[in-house]
Amino acid sequence: MQDFLKANYHAHTFRCQHANGTEREYIEAAIDMGIETFGFSDHIPCPFQDGFVSNIRMTMDQAGEYVGCIRKLAEEYKDDIKIYVGFEAEYIPEFYPQQMAMFRSLGCDYMIMGQHFFKSEKDGPYTGTPTNDESRIREYVDIVISGMETGSYLYLAHPDIINYQGMDSVYDWEMTRLCRRMKELQIPLEVNVLGMAEGKQYPADRFWKVAGEVGNDVVLGLDAHCVNNIKDVDNYRKCMELVERHHLHLLDELTIGE
Ligand SMILES: [Zn+2]
Ligand SMILES: [Zn+2]
Repeated sequence: MQDFLKANYHAHTFRCQHANGTEREYIEAAIDMGIETFGFSDHIPCPFQDGFVSNIRMTMDQAGEYVGCIRKLAEEYKDDIKIYVGFEAEYIPEFYPQQMAMFRSLGCDYMIMGQHFFKSEKDGPYTGTPTNDESRIREYVDIVISGMETGSYLYLAHPDIINYQGMDSVYDWEMTRLCRRMKELQIPLEVNVLGMAEGKQYPADRFWKVAGEVGNDVVLGLDAHCVNNIKDVDNYRKCMELVERHHLHLLDELTIGE
């Protein structure tokens, strides 16, 4: 068995409209790769008030079927792998109460935070849009900290999604502020394997340098949008090199449901 993740909590399904393959194929790939714990965390639906329909996430109405489908497969494969179901969620205060109510009523296992937008995607830009605006990076750090203070999220996915192109001193100051608060709250930070595979702005070496100095807990996340993402040994290795380069404190597994 080759060296690979023991646990992955970051995977999407076709319901988000930008992932493909079936849940069964994902699970069988995970078993083949020796993964012992696999969590589905598809993009959380948002209760838009004005009939807006997102093309990057499921609707509120689909959430029950999503959770039910994963629960059935979890039971079927329980002798081979531990399966969890949850969501990857932005912390958006206007949606948060309804999303939490849905989360509880469906009995989901966990949420990870992936702050892709500053506000509802209808009005807020993608947080990964390159910017020189200091107020953007500050706003990103503020919203992530407020969200994490709710205690609702297992970890912070791609914390380095923010694509600030201004002064290094500003970047280091704000990312140090983020990393220190995440450490106090005992929130692990995710090195995103898909970002490595796709040459995105994350994982960003300048961010992980800060996290290494602060001493954050770190996890790897496949962010699987297709079966091949679950077999991506090359980019797993590149992420492990990053972990070693910055002396990051890597956790193999997280505790869910306590
Ligand atoms: Zn994400
Ligand atoms: Zn994701």
